[in-house]
Amino acid sequence: MKRYLLRLGEISLKGLNRSHFQARLANNVREKFLPLKAKVSMQKGRMYLVVDDDISDAKVEKVLNTTFGFDGWAACKSTSDKTIDGLFSLIKEEINASNFADGVSTFKVDSRREDKTFPLSSYQIECEAAGLILEKYPHLKVNLKKPDRTLYVEIRKDCYVYSSREKGVSGLPVGTSGKGLSLLSGGIDSPVSSYLMAARGMKLELLYFHAFPYTSDDAKNKVIALARTIAPYLQGTTLHIVSFTELEKVIAKNGFENEKTLMLRAGMVKAADLLARKRRCKCLITGEALSQVASQTLEALDFTSSLTDMNILRPLVGMDKKEIIERAKEIGTYDTSILPYADCCVLFSPKHPKTRPDREKLT
Ligand code: ATP
Ligand code: MG
Repeated sequence: MKRYLLRLGEISLKGLNRSHFQARLANNVREKFLPLKAKVSMQKGRMYLVVDDDISDAKVEKVLNTTFGFDGWAACKSTSDKTIDGLFSLIKEEINASNFADGVSTFKVDSRREDKTFPLSSYQIECEAAGLILEKYPHLKVNLKKPDRTLYVEIRKDCYVYSSREKGVSGLPVGTSGKGLSLLSGGIDSPVSSYLMAARGMKLELLYFHAFPYTSDDAKNKVIALARTIAPYLQGTTLHIVSFTELEKVIAKNGFENEKTLMLRAGMVKAADLLARKRRCKCLITGEALSQVASQTLEALDFTSSLTDMNILRPLVGMDKKEIIERAKEIGTYDTSILPYADCCVLFSPKHPKTRPDREKLT
């Protein structure tokens, strides 16, 4: 069996409803291993995961690195023999592992004793464990400030030890903050805005407006690829592809040269509103950032917001492009987003777009 200790993030700040968040997180983790079995149990501030040896390390890593709700995780060893001897043999097992001292010249031991009935204090555990490490690797030195290797010991329901830990993606478990409809284009921004709302616990469906032949099938496939990349973070999702060709033709025919993009936006919001209601989504999400382009000035955002009674959440509103690009690289969507297939909005851009639309005139 492979064992992992997960460190809860924002959930640990919750009050009376904490167990609801924990239960959702446990379910989200279990669901990702199906049809294989994963055992998840809760402890104070921690979640404990046990999976079959048949499940590859890469699979576990992929699950843990795409599930919102915990700040960090570690592959650990554990024993239910909560005696001093039991703990020491567990520590020996960990430090005997072939790579414990690889490229390491300094170390420290970090101990947490949640179960106060254990006969040694945290400080005593640290001293004893350091002694065991020095016995095995006499060339190592203790460095409490910046060690190359830290041995972590936790005494909880069982004893756990581990010596390397990974960062989690934090956030709240998907499914704890209602459901929204996220407008996904092929650009850099909207996969990131979808990711950020999922990180706040929102379940998402995705909507892409396709305007064939103005936009090619390559553009559509790019959006499908983006949806696939973010789907694990979203605990699975549905991508709706809606044809927008007729609306583009109507807008093209009816003047409004400088307001073309805004008219297209208006159509998108209205159509998104209808679909959201049908799919029981409670809000819309876009990748707009204040003043990033002409259709995202305060007046333009105000105009698009006026076309629906639903909240339009814009998680990127205060971010600059550099920050958004960094995020896109982290979540793995950037390389797909910059593929050159033009989006309908690009093809549709007027030379002198209206930046301060007159709401009365357009509605
Ligand atoms: P992105 O990088 O997400 O494409 P952008 O900076 O290119 O954003 P716009 O093209 O002005 O910005 O689009 C703003 C937002 O409107 C997008 O982030 C997305 O949420 C939505 N949007 C734009 N085009 C489409 C489309 N074809 N289908 C669905 N949503 C769209
Ligand atoms: Mg775009």
